[in-house]
Amino acid sequence: MDFSFSEEQNILRDSVRRMMDKVATPEYVRRLDREQAYPTELYDAWVELGLLRLPFPETYDGLGGSVLDMVIIAEELARKSADFYMAYAGSIFCGLNVARKGSEEQKRYWLPKLFSGEIKMSISMSEPDAGSDVGAMRTTARRDRDDWVISGQKLWATGAAAKNNVINVYVKTDPKAHYRQGMSLFLVDNDTPGVELRKLEMLGRRCTGTYEIFFNDVRVPSERLVGGENKGWDCILSGLQAERITSAAGNIGASLACFELAVEYAKERKQFGRPIGFNQAIAHMLADMQAEIEAARTLTWRAAWMVSAGKDALREISMAKLLSSEAYVKAANMGMQVMGGYGYNMEYDMQRHYRDSRAATIAAGTSQMQRNIIAGLMGLKA
Ligand SMILES: Cc1cc2nc3c(=O)[nH]c(=O)nc-3n(C[C@H](O)[C@H](O)[C@H](O)COP(=O)(O)OP(=O)(O)OC[C@H]3O[C@@H](n4cnc5c(N)ncnc54)[C@H](O)[C@@H]3O)c2cc1C
Repeated sequence: MDFSFSEEQNILRDSVRRMMDKVATPEYVRRLDREQAYPTELYDAWVELGLLRLPFPETYDGLGGSVLDMVIIAEELARKSADFYMAYAGSIFCGLNVARKGSEEQKRYWLPKLFSGEIKMSISMSEPDAGSDVGAMRTTARRDRDDWVISGQKLWATGAAAKNNVINVYVKTDPKAHYRQGMSLFLVDNDTPGVELRKLEMLGRRCTGTYEIFFNDVRVPSERLVGGENKGWDCILSGLQAERITSAAGNIGASLACFELAVEYAKERKQFGRPIGFNQAIAHMLADMQAEIEAARTLTWRAAWMVSAGKDALREISMAKLLSSEAYVKAANMGMQVMGGYGYNMEYDMQRHYRDSRAATIAAGTSQMQRNIIAGLMGLKA
């Protein structure tokens, strides 16, 4: 068993970390969170470093990176902010769907624009009455000669209002069919007439932003349909494993940031004449934190390795998503306790992790849904 990364992967980690240290300074991260501003400068730096091209096939001018490479990038981006990682992940996951399910023409049209930063991409599936139960979605697209007309309402769409963003929206194209046979994927520019976006007031992840979207009879040409009519479920499934595993890695990166902040503080902060970390109560909290993060990280790496080796890793990925998101919530919670009043203060970073982490067990499949998948694979299906 070999847990080491290759020389190239170590170089990748170093270069991503250096770029993140340079652009996402503590002042930058705090300012963007305070102003709820999109990380435009950072996104441009990702484009410049080639991170947008990394997991795409070389045939389409990608860099042919692996799932393990994606895990490294996710850890490093989320070390600064889980919210920043979401801005990257939106474009990557949607782009990969186009690479897997799009026509040759669509790949040649969309991928260069994504790689150059000319466009970004975001995913929109959830609706007011369709969260964990994706099949309950009501937004529809109906054919009108050579066009499609989209009508309905979407919710919780991360990064939907970013400049030049293309919303990857899942809608019903055959409302009478079972959702797996009646759903389709469309690419809609966020400034198309009839698209109305409203930023939602959320507890955390406030830079990339979470949006409500109204599709008021939005007309799109048939070239915007990806994967074929009623083939949306295939598109969702094709990207699910990579999406969950890199989300798990993002949670790990953010958990490590909490841990490092807390350890550093426990060594420096003195009460009763000695560092607070010398008290067993504090030291044990940090030991628990480290053990839980490392356990989740090892599981995440193993699941990523299984995917890159072409093995079915649904159970391991669900476990990694479950444990990594819960490790992040716990690390931010315990980190705040270690830092006392400073942890609760808006000038320190732990409160941001505390707010951002709460989304980790909800977005991209809740903890309960991960447990349902794991239990289902044991033969315990409701
Ligand atoms: C910050 C943030 C960003 C997001 N970004 C996006 C995005 O970019 N695009 C997008 O499409 N969506 C996005 N989402 C939506 C996210 O995917 C949904 O919130 C999630 O799927 C849960 O749906 P829901 O909120 O409607 O909760 P519900 O599905 O209503 O669930 C409520 C509670 O009931 C539990 N529950 C539901 N069904 C079951 C069951 N069968 N068994 C056990 N427990 C169950 C859930 O686990 C949860 O605890 C985002 C959400 C958040 C918070």
